[in-house]
Amino acid sequence: MRHLLAATALLFIATPAFAEPEYAAAIRADYDQTLGAMWDDFHRHPELSFKEVRTAAKMAAALRSVKGMQVSEKVGGTGVVGVLRNGDGPVVLVRADMDGLPVEEKSGLPNASKARQIGVDGVDTPVMHACGHDTHIVGLFATARRLAALKDRWAGTVVFVVQPAEERVEGAAAMLRDGLYTRFPKPQYALAYHSNSEGLAGTVSASEDIQYSSSDSVDIVVPGVGAHGASPHTGKDPVYMASQLVIALQGLISRERQPLNPGVITVGSFHAGLKHNIISDEAKLQVTVRANDEATRKQLLEGIERVARGIGELNGMPADKVPVVKVVEGTPTTRNDAPLSRRLNAVMVETLGADRVVPFQQKGMGAEDFAAFVQGDLNVKGYYFTVGGTQQSAFDAAASGGPPVPSHHSPLFKVDPRAVVTTGATAMTAAVLDLLKPGQARAG
Ligand SMILES: [Zn+2]
Ligand SMILES: [Zn+2]
Repeated sequence: MRHLLAATALLFIATPAFAEPEYAAAIRADYDQTLGAMWDDFHRHPELSFKEVRTAAKMAAALRSVKGMQVSEKVGGTGVVGVLRNGDGPVVLVRADMDGLPVEEKSGLPNASKARQIGVDGVDTPVMHACGHDTHIVGLFATARRLAALKDRWAGTVVFVVQPAEERVEGAAAMLRDGLYTRFPKPQYALAYHSNSEGLAGTVSASEDIQYSSSDSVDIVVPGVGAHGASPHTGKDPVYMASQLVIALQGLISRERQPLNPGVITVGSFHAGLKHNIISDEAKLQVTVRANDEATRKQLLEGIERVARGIGELNGMPADKVPVVKVVEGTPTTRNDAPLSRRLNAVMVETLGADRVVPFQQKGMGAEDFAAFVQGDLNVKGYYFTVGGTQQSAFDAAASGGPPVPSHHSPLFKVDPRAVVTTGATAMTAAVLDLLKPGQARAG
C-alpha cells in the first residue's frame, strides 16, 4: 500500500497538473464576498410562477450594476433581459429561471423560507425555492459580472435572460411571445443549466442529444347525469366512467406505445362528487403526459382524446356529452445540439478537469421549458447542462442508513449553493468565452 501511494505521488508529479482558469477563483471570491448573501436573500424570499416581482426587481438592479449592460423589465410578465454588447461576433443567450414552488419548506436551513403567496390560480400557499432556481439566478449574475470583467477575451453579444414561470412551463413561451427574439438580439446559441441534487457537488453533466422529456398538462372533464346513489340506473355515473378512463389510459402506455420509446401518463388529480349517496354530474381529471420524441408525444395525446371519447360512448353518453380533453400547457423535448454539445463538453473537461464532467444519463422524465428557446425552426443551437449540488458526505450518510438525499420539489430539498453557483458560473463563463472567441465569423 505504501509503495503504491509513493508510485501514485510520483505519477502526479510527472503529469502536468490540471490548471483551472483564473476566473474560477475570482467567481469563488465573488461568492464569498457578495453572491452568498444574495443567494441567502433569494432563498428566504421565493415567489411563485409569474409572481416573481421582488426577485425580478432585484435581478434587474443587479444586472444594471454590470458596466455596459442594457436591462429591460417585464418581458413576458416578470421576465428580465440584460444585453451586454462587446463588438462584432455571435449572439449567445444565457438563461436562468427564477420561480419558486407552492411547497412549505422543511429543509432546516437557517434561511429557510417562511413566505406565503397567492399564485396565478388564486390559491394562497407557502412558497419555497424547492428546485434550486435561486442558485440559477445568482449564477447568471456571477457569469454576467465575470464576462464584463473579461471583455478583452470575447467579442459579440450576450443576452442574459431571467425567466419567470419555468415550473408552469409557460415562462419561456411568454417571453418569446413578448418579443425576446425580435426586440432583443436573436441568439445563435442558447445556454442554461439546472442544479441537480442527485449529482455530486462541483460536477457538471450534459447530454449530446435528449436532455429532458416533453411534458403536457391535460384536463379532462367527464360529464355524467346526476341521480340518487340508490338508483344508478336513472343517471350516468361520472365517477365510474372516470375510473374506467384512468385504467384505460394506461393501455396507451402498455399496449400502443412502441416499448423502446419512453412514455408516461399519470393522472395526478381526480375530483368528483359531494356526498355518499349522490351520483354527481361531473368528474374532473388532471393528467401529465411525458415522452422523449415528438411522435410518441403526439400518439399519446391523440390516444387520450380517443380513449376519453370512447369511454363516453361505451357508457351510452350522447355524442355531445362525451368527456372533453384539453391540453392546457405543454413543452416539447429539450434536445442539445449534438456538435455544440460535443464542443462544449470538451470545454467543460478543459475548464473543470475530466473528473468533474460526468457522462449524462437520463434518469427520469422531467421536463424543461428551455425547449421553447431552441425548438423547431428557430435556428438556435441549445446546450443545457446540470450542475451537481450534493456533497459526498451526504451521499455517504444516505448509503449507510442516514437521511436520504432529498429530491427536487421536496419540502426537504437543498443543494450546496456555493458549489452550484460557482461551478455553474465557471462552466457558463467558459462556454460563452469559447463561443465568442474573438475573430469568429458571425454564426448563421
Ligand atoms: Zn422544478
Ligand atoms: Zn427547476
